[in-house]
Amino acid sequence: MSLSPESPVAVLCSGGDAPGMNAFLRAIVRLGLNRHQIPVYGIRDGYRGLVRAARQVNSDADALYRLKQEIERNIGNRGLIDAQQSIIQMDHASVSGIMGKGGTILGSARCLDFHKPEVRREVITLLEKLGVRALIVSGGDGSLTGARLLAEESDLRIIGVPATIDNDLQFTEMSLGVDTAVHTLVWAVDHFIDTARSHRRVMVLETMGRESGDLARMAALASGAEMVITPEGGALSEAKMRGLAEQIEGAMTRGRGHAIVLIAEGVKFEPEQKRNGAYVLRDAFQSYFQREGAPFPDLEVRPSVLGHLQRGGHSTPGDCILAARFAEEAWKSVLNPNGINGITALRYNKVEVVPFGCPDLPERAIHSCAMDLLHNDLSNW
Ligand code: ADP
Repeated sequence: MSLSPESPVAVLCSGGDAPGMNAFLRAIVRLGLNRHQIPVYGIRDGYRGLVRAARQVNSDADALYRLKQEIERNIGNRGLIDAQQSIIQMDHASVSGIMGKGGTILGSARCLDFHKPEVRREVITLLEKLGVRALIVSGGDGSLTGARLLAEESDLRIIGVPATIDNDLQFTEMSLGVDTAVHTLVWAVDHFIDTARSHRRVMVLETMGRESGDLARMAALASGAEMVITPEGGALSEAKMRGLAEQIEGAMTRGRGHAIVLIAEGVKFEPEQKRNGAYVLRDAFQSYFQREGAPFPDLEVRPSVLGHLQRGGHSTPGDCILAARFAEEAWKSVLNPNGINGITALRYNKVEVVPFGCPDLPERAIHSCAMDLLHNDLSNW
């Protein structure tokens, strides 16, 4: 495929939204227009938008011409207003004032069809017909797997950008959105502490993070929550839960009046449980505190599943800065003729592009263990 200076770069957000996606879009567009003089196409609704546009183009002989006309006519906010337009040429105004805003102005989505090779082929053909020089995909594990497949199946330059509050991508120290989600959790814990303290209660708060406990452990360290339970600590048996309840009761005996317990959503139980972990733990704690002859039979345990609250909100300066750094590195890789397809990553506090399938940073696991130990020693009563 021959590239001209006008060959655009396409960008999309995919999978679960993460704070910082908008700051990232702004940085990609502004660097494209100001530093590189290369147009940027925003793809609406992640891979779903690409699939929709590919089908539109396949519908009749003039459809590609009509799509190109639409892109050229409805630039920026004009294109964004029309929910039917899947590909929008972004301008300065379209990314103005969005830096800290949660969510993504392009929309994000899940697209099951994208798992099919023949559908990805349609998408590759579309991008080639539009003369797109590179596709930048921001999203989590699943979205980056989709990006890797596109890279393997085409000659396009494909760059992934980790954006997920789960921080479950082990090749990077941080993903976009994590810092903001930790901030939100600290805010939430601060609110729950007021009630916990007033009513002398134990609050069990369930955090997101899929199979990773990183979000919970970072939030515990930053908020001073008394206890954090992560999937990395292994499945919770009845005996383990009793041990945790004993720990809380012991702290109460030594004068502690309340406790905040964070449990990551990925924590497993033995035997397996269908309910949310926060409810399972509440029942286990409550029955322990109310056992025959217990010292605090009136101690109440209240569960709360924090859910999507953690994904929204104004992104922190930390996320906005990381978004700008990821965008700059993505552009460098796109424009380097010898650059590789891969994913932007923060490693040893430096942003670089690592190949798809890059092994985990061994330091990540060590760092998690060290954080758990530190939290334990800081919250021990
Ligand atoms: P996240 O990116 O937040 O982890 P998902 O796992 O739901 O979210 O993935 C988002 C989208 O990425 C999916 O809906 C699908 O379009 C695409 N995707 C995920 N896994 C694959 C895969 N194995 N092959 C192709 N596309 C995938």
